[in-house]
Amino acid sequence: MNPKRVEHIGIAVRNLEKSLNFYQNVLGLEFLKQEIVESQGVKIAFLKVGESKIELLEPLNADSTIAKFIEKNGEGIHHFAVLVDSIEDKVRVMQAQGAKMIGDKPSEGADGMKIIFVHPKTTNGVLLELCEPLAKEEK
Ligand code: ZN
Repeated sequence: MNPKRVEHIGIAVRNLEKSLNFYQNVLGLEFLKQEIVESQGVKIAFLKVGESKIELLEPLNADSTIAKFIEKNGEGIHHFAVLVDSIEDKVRVMQAQGAKMIGDKPSEGADGMKIIFVHPKTTNGVLLELCEPLAKEEK
């Protein structure tokens, strides 16, 4: 029921290729994959850091929440995500304790995950993502 680990840290970037150069070639993280999530207006690259990942998010258009984030705050850490067994159960338990979610139910995110965001009002100002693999392959 409780989160198992930090699944990834999401970083908003203006240019995925340029950012990948640093994280992949300079820092030396292993590149996993790149994908486009049209519904969220983002192009995403995943890099591996041990059991966790770095998620680089580049906006596809000006309406993307990532575009708005960068406009307001500049590039930087956008959210972090923890892995849970059952997102619905976890949301129910958290809401019962007063936690506020963004949106009323989980949606399909990148990387084959079911996701929901917890409102920063609940989390001391940090955007927190809960995620659960759609296909169960993790222990
Ligand atoms: Zn994420």
